[in-house]
Amino acid sequence: ASKETTGAAVTRLDPSKGSRAGKTASTPRYDYLIVGAGFAGAVLAERLAAGSNKRVLVVDKRPHIAGNAYDHYNEDGLLVHKYGPHIFHTNSDKVVDYLSRFTQWRPYEHRVLAQVDDQLVPMPINLTTLSRLYGREFTADDAQAFLAARAEKVDTIKTSEDVVVSQIGRELYEKFFQGYTRKQWGLDPSELDKSVAARVPTRTSIDDRYFTDSFQNMPLHGYTKMFENMLNHPNISVMTGTDFQDLEGEVQYDKLIYTGPIDEFFKHRFGKLPYRSLRFEHTTLPVENFQQVGTVNYPAEATPYTRITEYKHLTGQQHAKTSLTYEYPMAEGDPYYPVPRPENQELYRRYQALADATPNVVFVGRLACYRYYNMDQVVAQALSTYQQLQQEDAARSAA
Ligand code: FAD
Repeated sequence: ASKETTGAAVTRLDPSKGSRAGKTASTPRYDYLIVGAGFAGAVLAERLAAGSNKRVLVVDKRPHIAGNAYDHYNEDGLLVHKYGPHIFHTNSDKVVDYLSRFTQWRPYEHRVLAQVDDQLVPMPINLTTLSRLYGREFTADDAQAFLAARAEKVDTIKTSEDVVVSQIGRELYEKFFQGYTRKQWGLDPSELDKSVAARVPTRTSIDDRYFTDSFQNMPLHGYTKMFENMLNHPNISVMTGTDFQDLEGEVQYDKLIYTGPIDEFFKHRFGKLPYRSLRFEHTTLPVENFQQVGTVNYPAEATPYTRITEYKHLTGQQHAKTSLTYEYPMAEGDPYYPVPRPENQELYRRYQALADATPNVVFVGRLACYRYYNMDQVVAQALSTYQQLQQEDAARSAA
């Protein structure tokens, strides 16, 4: 059964109106302070408040909840994702069962086309992609033989370039991956860990869905509405527009759950963990439809953006206008993608060792773990963190 409430019933303490007490007897006291109102923070807040009757304060430095999944109605009344398209997909029943308590769903299978050689072709590469590019029909066997004949032998697969050229050869690598990767990461695929390309499979079928997970649906009324429902609990207070760093001594709490960047927590003691950022250009056009599918990729290096997303495909909204987001990769800006290189993992491990030695602080989510996680993975991680906290509580009470 799904739980639906209307309106934002989240308690908002406005620091500018004096609801934040100083270090006095009236300093508010919480069992948990949670830094970050994204999936990691919101799931833990909900579980601790509703499942364990804990008093929880959630703070986020952004002016809204929902973290990177935040969506909102723009001035034309179109639902858009502020931090780029977020498509929900998972194979985890546990994650679906949990989130279904806070939202209903709308079926949506994401499809992506890539602009290559002046054509729009399915991405990931499938039989249709090959047929369009090479002007003839391909069966699964033809495609396998075609790709095998072009695949380059690579002795040890280390980089993204190795992954791709060893599977599909240099020509398709250059058309689909090299320029896109250089734009996305500011690095050539030969400089990036193999895990980056491992996310982009090639298919010898006509399946043109971007994801193949068993559950592919969008929250019916959007992500922010789902987060409002999660955080709508009398044990939960939420302060948006509040940086954890400015809170020192202002609230009392027994435990801290930190979902921000781990290096920032430790004041960049060992140096900064590198991230790739994006600039999102949001635009609304006075036409009903702009492109055939949710996202069109632009792999050519000459095009400054990597992709265009049209939200109506994702949301199913009927409207006379349409809203798009262009994504321009950047070196500086909000931390979006951890840069997967061995030296960065090494640096992260040094921070992780500090985290392990820090009592009463739990590090959860993509920024605290310096890892690209999909939304469902963060929900699963937060649910298992909750279980661990419950077990620790039970062990303490038994002692
Ligand atoms: P976040 O959502 O980033 O939440 C962390 C929060 O902590 C932020 O709101 C931040 O403001 C806050 N914070 C940080 N430091 C402080 C501080 N000092 N004080 C107070 N608050 C602080 N996943 C999918 O499953 N499907 C997709 O299609 C998809 N698309 C994506 C597209 C893009 C462009 C990006 C960047 C990510 C995408 N993801 C997608 C991944 C998804 O965004 C993450 O899995 C999810 O947002 C992680 O949740 P989180 O709670 O760990 O982090």
